Amino acid sequence: MINIYASQSTSNILIVDDKPPNLRVLSTMLTKAGYKVRAVTSGNMALMAAKTLPPDIILLDIKMPDLDGYEVCQQLKQFPETAEIPVIFLSALQDIEDKVKAFEAGGVDYIIKPFQFEEVLARVSIHLALKQTRYQLQKLNQELEKRVEERTADLEEIKEKLLFDARHDGLTQLPNRSLFLERVDLALKRVHEEDDYIFAVFVIDLDRFKMINDSDGHLVGDRLLVKIARTLETLVSPADTVARLGGDEFAILLDPINDVNEALRVAQDIKNALTTSFIIETREIFTSPSIGLTISLPSYQSAVEILRDADIAMGQAKLKGRGRYEIFNQQMHAQALKLLTLETDLRHGIEKQEFDVYYQPIMKLDSIKLVGFEALIRWQHPYKGFISPGEFIPVAENTGLIIPIGKIVLEKVCRQIQSWKTKFPQATVLKVAVNLSSKQFNNADLMEEIDEVLEKTGLTPNNLKLEITETSLIEHSLETIKLLKQLKQRNLEICLDDFGTGYSSLSYLHRFPVDTLKIDRSFINCIGQPEENLEIIQSIIPLAHNLEMDVVAEGIETEEQLIYLRKLDCDFGQGYFFNRPLTPQEAEQLLIESR
Ligand code: C2E
Ligand code: MG
Ligand code: MG
Repeated sequence: MINIYASQSTSNILIVDDKPPNLRVLSTMLTKAGYKVRAVTSGNMALMAAKTLPPDIILLDIKMPDLDGYEVCQQLKQFPETAEIPVIFLSALQDIEDKVKAFEAGGVDYIIKPFQFEEVLARVSIHLALKQTRYQLQKLNQELEKRVEERTADLEEIKEKLLFDARHDGLTQLPNRSLFLERVDLALKRVHEEDDYIFAVFVIDLDRFKMINDSDGHLVGDRLLVKIARTLETLVSPADTVARLGGDEFAILLDPINDVNEALRVAQDIKNALTTSFIIETREIFTSPSIGLTISLPSYQSAVEILRDADIAMGQAKLKGRGRYEIFNQQMHAQALKLLTLETDLRHGIEKQEFDVYYQPIMKLDSIKLVGFEALIRWQHPYKGFISPGEFIPVAENTGLIIPIGKIVLEKVCRQIQSWKTKFPQATVLKVAVNLSSKQFNNADLMEEIDEVLEKTGLTPNNLKLEITETSLIEHSLETIKLLKQLKQRNLEICLDDFGTGYSSLSYLHRFPVDTLKIDRSFINCIGQPEENLEIIQSIIPLAHNLEMDVVAEGIETEEQLIYLRKLDCDFGQGYFFNRPLTPQEAEQLLIESR
């Protein structure tokens, strides 16, 4: 509530009356009451005084010689600086018409002379308070309006942010998949409308990003992604779109381009810019991209199809060894379809138990005595016939199906050896090697699964050997060493398969507790060839022996190869020269014969 009297004592009052005695009386009274008073004796003076220093209220006589009170009041109402000043008429005129006229002229009150001083004081006070209240209300109103405006602006900002967030990636602030697809769809529309309009879409995947994330932490991974985002933006013009599709996958829309070469140049730029090292929190992180690109053709009906094809091309780049780019073509599509069917078939194969295990004998080379087998999976597809592991294992790895398949193999093998052990005394010392792909080897449940199968089949671990490849070791080196040590504690042996084909591995070999090196078939093949390259075998064997590992030669096909390997002191061998991979029945026959 507003205090009526609070501001009144300092209020300014202008009194207008052509009779000085009247003025004096009023002036003295009001001054005594605490008001600041000015007094004038004509209408013109009143107007001037009100304009030069607008009073808070005016007491206005009606009958005056120059301008009468009505006229003065009407004029005051016409100017903004005086329009709001409350005017109280003071007059001896008592007719109702006079009063109506006074209110029509803009007066707020009418006091009849001769007046009672208390009445004047009360009315002045009320009108000042009313004026004050009106003023406060106005101020509140303005504040309210201002606040509403601010809130509206805030809401607008929030709305904009929500809209932005829905279509952008929170980490890199790049457009997300849905905004990217929208833009590609717009570009595609132009391709359909205008002759010769073309654009290109790239899908970029960081090689080994998961490894960086796992070993250096998500924070480093995140910062790397932001750096990659900023780098990609520098490679294209502002009119193009760089987007993050998710995870470590980015996409670029180059729109438009003049020709395919322009797109290829950008692909090369991306490859160069991302095949590098980034410094993040004092750590040096090496990256390389796999890039797939596709060019807009009018035959495309939607952005989704275009992105799918760029993605297929990216997959090809990865398959061909990463750190490279591939441009989409129709064969890739066919290939992708084939892989998709293979995946479906694999799932059926697992359900319908279409997998068998064959056993390839492993011989001690000096005595040609059977010491074990390598277990090799075979898939008998119901109508496509035999499908080689070289064809379906990579698909099983990519889809994760290798985990259930690996379990099937392990269980079959353990059951088989256990059964041979009960039938043939010499089988108790046999070692059977089971292949584990890097996906299986790096599967957190591996140890548990092996324990479970051993327990279920009753096999002792010393009959089992695990064959892993160099990539399994490279990718997760610290955890790998831990796992290898655990396996060794269980009395399980480890064989490093396809040795020599992977990274130049000699330097780190001593760090891993490995029992056996298996020299890749390609090196054994060389023996007896016109362009033989034997240095590698010659150096691997003594090196392995120095590290207390034994050596298996894989793919021995000729007597010449056997003789040569014996000369080099190679411990064991397998290959068509001795046996092809055998069915369980054939392998059992061999055991009977070797009794
Ligand atoms: P790998 O482990 O290096 O197996 C050796 C491959 O060489 C086998 O091919 C075997 O049949 C073949 N081989 C053996 N001796 C000779 C020879 O004298 N000459 C020739 N030309 N080839 C010979 P396979 O059975 O086709 O297996 C191919 C690959 O598939 C294996 O290579 C292994 O990496 C993978 N694999 C096989 N079975 C399994 C499995 O149960 N699990 C996993 N994860 N991978 C498997
Ligand atoms: Mg093997
Ligand atoms: Mg091998």
